[in-house]
Amino acid sequence: MKRRKFLTSLGSSLALTSLLGNSSSLRAKEKTEYQWKMVTSWPKNFPGLGTGAENLAKLITNLSNGRIKVKVFGANELVPPLEVFDFVSKGGAELGHSGAYYWKGKSQACQFFSSVPFGMNSQEMNAWLYYGDGIKLWEKLYDKFNLIPRPAGNTGVQMGGWFNKKINSVNDLKGLKMRIPGLGGEVLSRAGGTSVTLAGSEIFTALQTGVIDATEWVGPYNDRAFGLHKAAKYYYYPGWHEPGPTIECMINKDKYNSLPTDLKLVIDIACKAINLDMLSDYTAKNNLALQFLKSENINILKFPNEVLTKLKEISDEILKEISAKDEITNEVYKSYVSFKEDVEPWTDISDKSYLDIR
Ligand code: CA
Repeated sequence: MKRRKFLTSLGSSLALTSLLGNSSSLRAKEKTEYQWKMVTSWPKNFPGLGTGAENLAKLITNLSNGRIKVKVFGANELVPPLEVFDFVSKGGAELGHSGAYYWKGKSQACQFFSSVPFGMNSQEMNAWLYYGDGIKLWEKLYDKFNLIPRPAGNTGVQMGGWFNKKINSVNDLKGLKMRIPGLGGEVLSRAGGTSVTLAGSEIFTALQTGVIDATEWVGPYNDRAFGLHKAAKYYYYPGWHEPGPTIECMINKDKYNSLPTDLKLVIDIACKAINLDMLSDYTAKNNLALQFLKSENINILKFPNEVLTKLKEISDEILKEISAKDEITNEVYKSYVSFKEDVEPWTDISDKSYLDIR
């Protein structure tokens, strides 16, 4: 039983057994050239996210020696940003670059494959995805939508957001109108605030005109690009609601299965390379943007512990509630939570204790 479990997890997490096809049938496909489209949820070439999609497309084209040519479409060029999933599922494009939490309407389980409040950081996410049951469960979840998911980027820990007043206690969240989508928004609402979902391009004006009192976006690199420091004075950390969201590449399953073995590997390896590359890009650029924001005299403040403790308590409640909604969400929730509980003691005595003393 144990051995079978080990073999299943090995096969799926490395995605190798699925690639072992019949070699004679593969040869006929070796000269085929594929013209593929990639739709994304990001403005064309948006720093980090959009450039990550472009890099992924280029890498697939170059690694395949031009046998797969990928053309990238920004948000709204072929489909609106939040229709990427359905479009790739139906084969309108072969590839999609997006974030799994956008698809919580399909299943609440999707959110665990991007980020959940007070969840795992980027390194822990990768460990769960590649060496735990993460990718296996993600494939199971997307299978009925005719999609194959791959991790293909990560922003690292995000910032808590921009506020037009100081947050000294949980009471300061009451009545606060904040742009914060997904589970983070649900947590804020239960803490007494009002959560609003706005596309990235609408955030600056909403904050500047007082339509909202606060907003989160990503981190210094992306927040500076939208000029959010010109619309609010207080910049809070940490991003408790998005502690290292995985960005996804979804592949139409029929199209993926039509590829010869080496081109399937090209897709998989390119996604893995971009998964690392985007995180490195964010770490380098966030650092530079943070220096700039400090020079602009922005108040960079940590949320009080009392506030974080309350938000964590609410987050745990909400995650438990959504896990009861359907079978697959329950299965994903259990795997995620048990991996997190196992990995945390190691993170505590390695990364965390080291970062505290350096
Ligand atoms: Ca965010």
